[in-house]
Amino acid sequence: MEYRLKRTQQLQDFLKFSQEHKEKSTMKDMGEKAGALLKKPASELSASQKRGRGITDMFIKAYDPNSCVVWHSLFMPTEIFQAMDIVPFTAEMAAAGIAGAGISRVLVERGESYTQCMDSCSFATCSAGAMLEHLFPEPDFIVTTSQLCDTAMKLARFSAQITGRKEFFIDVPFGGMVMNPDQYRDAVDYVAKQLKSMVKFIEQETGRKLDEDRLYEVMQRSNEAREWFLKAMELRKNNYPLVRGVQMLDYSVVLLNIWGTDAAVDIFKSLYEEMQAACAKGGISKGIHRIVWIHLRPYYDNTIINYIEKERGAYLVHEMSNFIFWDAFDPADPYRSLARKMLSNPAYSPVEVQFGIYEKYNKLFNVDGMIGFTHKGCRHLYSSIHMCAEHLKDDTPWLVIDGDCIDPRAYSFPLVKTRIDAFFDMLDMKKERME
Ligand code: SF4
Repeated sequence: MEYRLKRTQQLQDFLKFSQEHKEKSTMKDMGEKAGALLKKPASELSASQKRGRGITDMFIKAYDPNSCVVWHSLFMPTEIFQAMDIVPFTAEMAAAGIAGAGISRVLVERGESYTQCMDSCSFATCSAGAMLEHLFPEPDFIVTTSQLCDTAMKLARFSAQITGRKEFFIDVPFGGMVMNPDQYRDAVDYVAKQLKSMVKFIEQETGRKLDEDRLYEVMQRSNEAREWFLKAMELRKNNYPLVRGVQMLDYSVVLLNIWGTDAAVDIFKSLYEEMQAACAKGGISKGIHRIVWIHLRPYYDNTIINYIEKERGAYLVHEMSNFIFWDAFDPADPYRSLARKMLSNPAYSPVEVQFGIYEKYNKLFNVDGMIGFTHKGCRHLYSSIHMCAEHLKDDTPWLVIDGDCIDPRAYSFPLVKTRIDAFFDMLDMKKERME
């Protein structure tokens, strides 16, 4: 396991690279920020800070030569890894952190110079750039799934080549949400069987044994965290803003890799308690327009969300990336439970499934408008957000902003501001007419 010894140098190289290449950033210096969060006692942290600390802890652990580390694709559930004390490292999530640290442009360009592809998802291209610079911690093995990103398989193959580690691939059939009951049952069995094979693969690669009792507990904890988060989201339905939208977008729980940990339970319980306290005070501000945000945000720049919240009286009542689309797990049947979660991602289904979900949002959250931030290289969400906006335009006002979550070259706030203003002027007029 000599490869693990490289991690200490890789962390130092990452921090040095961040200092040398930092451009405009939404974060403080990476090292400074991580250090400040880790120093504070847990009791003094807000839910958002606890989330940041949970992610930072996991990130730092991934660079520890004593850790067993898996690189996994974005939508791979992490409960089995948590139960085996394996540190999950998501290259695409690391790309979001890289953008926040203001070093994504140079790494996207590095990735593009290798892939010769300018229109791929920049979460993946940026990660490829970071891998080429050897900034990510050497993995012990790699796991990827076909849901949902088209780039995931290629990135995993590239990761395996560059690191020399073995890769395990899980095939998830497309369209679980529209399958008939027989097809769905077969699909659940098919994915569950592959998850069991994955455990055998991990046991062979690492010499660790999965303790089924431990997995049971992790699945229970994952359910508990899910319950707290759902309770918090329930509070947002009929209240003034209880938390800043930019913070909620950073939760993006469908992508989170700390499900199944005590930290996740604590974070979501704290979030619920903070929201309850904000509720008792009548909210953190008196917003005017209730907005649902579709997809993620630009991670290198917070201007859009700050502008709509501070200047245009808008507030986010829900985010697609915080939509808990999966049912509670049956801890006694972990493989099928996880398979159901992997099959039920609405973005890995025909676009009509998304039409149905957004139609329901309107009533559920009493929405004034929907804002979709598209990511130019995303094969699943770029077109589907445009199609949803067109399909539902008579139902709710939609604004679609074309941009890129990671690559700052593909976005300019002054250019999108005119359209944002036109959208909110229209919502203002609509509101005035109704009063
Ligand atoms: S933007 Fe689309 S392709 Fe890229 S990581 Fe997200 S879901 Fe996957």
